[in-house]
Amino acid sequence: MKKFDRYPILEINLSHMKSNVKNIVEKCSENEISVTGVVKATDTYEHSYNEIANIMISAGCTSIGDSRMNTIKRMREMGFNKEILLLRVPMMSELDDVVKYSDCSLQSELNVLKLTNEAAKRENKIHSVILMMDLGDLREGFFDEEELIDAALMVENEFSNLYLKGIGTNLGCYGAICPDEKNLGRLVNIAERIEGKISRTLDIVSGGGTSSLPMVLNNTIPKGINHLRIGEGIVLSRDLIDIWKCDMPFMYQDIYTIYAQVIEVKEKPSYPIGKIFIDAFGNTPEYEDLGIRKRALLALGKRDIGSFDSVSVKLPKAIILGGSSDHLILDIDEVEEEIRVGDVIGFDVYYGAMVFANNSSSVYKRYIK
Ligand SMILES: *Cc1c(COP(=O)(O)O)cnc(C)c1O
Repeated sequence: MKKFDRYPILEINLSHMKSNVKNIVEKCSENEISVTGVVKATDTYEHSYNEIANIMISAGCTSIGDSRMNTIKRMREMGFNKEILLLRVPMMSELDDVVKYSDCSLQSELNVLKLTNEAAKRENKIHSVILMMDLGDLREGFFDEEELIDAALMVENEFSNLYLKGIGTNLGCYGAICPDEKNLGRLVNIAERIEGKISRTLDIVSGGGTSSLPMVLNNTIPKGINHLRIGEGIVLSRDLIDIWKCDMPFMYQDIYTIYAQVIEVKEKPSYPIGKIFIDAFGNTPEYEDLGIRKRALLALGKRDIGSFDSVSVKLPKAIILGGSSDHLILDIDEVEEEIRVGDVIGFDVYYGAMVFANNSSSVYKRYIK
């Protein structure tokens, strides 16, 4: 196993990441779709934020997307000077920063648009906006099509310091709704209606994030969708391949790996002793009695990875039993090699664990260039 100085550690392969971004940008451009590279799930602690953003730009992304103003501001302070798209519809209290540090924002409230316009006026800037349409996923966005069109006309005709860059939608995040020809087709149709009313084309019709990628790959994405905002799919294609069953042999899956250290190895019963009540997170767990088994305790917990479902152990025949905030328990009874205290075990990482690990100050980071 690999040796580092400190654990847990998240190893990040930047050259594989760049290759993945290039591949996705290429597939999208075959469908006349430009890509905003989303950095919000990447490391915000160390100085890599900027570096990952630059990798995405050099691999062909037309702008960088992030959901939080504090990290966007930091990127600017670190010298990042390319286009930035604010992904979370803004808080009223942050509009001065929004127009100062980002070039474009997703928006869904007429009042906020009006105040953004005033903030841009004070900054003497033209700020671009993309109006969000909720097509059924029920997170952000206008739900009423006519209301969105009225807001678009206000931006175009009344708000002189805003530029109506386009419209967009988000799917698959809250309601877990799949993008399809019907809902994305409706977005294209709304865009056409607006274009008819403002007598120009919209720059952007933004059809979502990673969950819309499968439609690009199988060429079913409706014509007229010309932009996607992609994070997960380019920094971590594992979910697309394992969960969405996308065939993507051209993508590296090993961009992120977590290494954790074994702090205890013992034989214990597999069934807890005493009355089972609730665990540290308020759940009543169930256990199967498999007799005495050899287990390893690792210094890695929910605080570092969010949930044990979002990693998979790289040690053949080891089974993740669960754990708590600071511990992960492995059944190693059938593992062939001998596991000792101090050994290091690697884990493949899914999206949830990547977000937690990247944002945890107790997970160290190591970049492979
Ligand atoms: C996070 C986010 C994205 C990117 O999502 P991925 O699944 O990481 O591709 C796109 N748009 C919005 C509004 C987001 O919040």
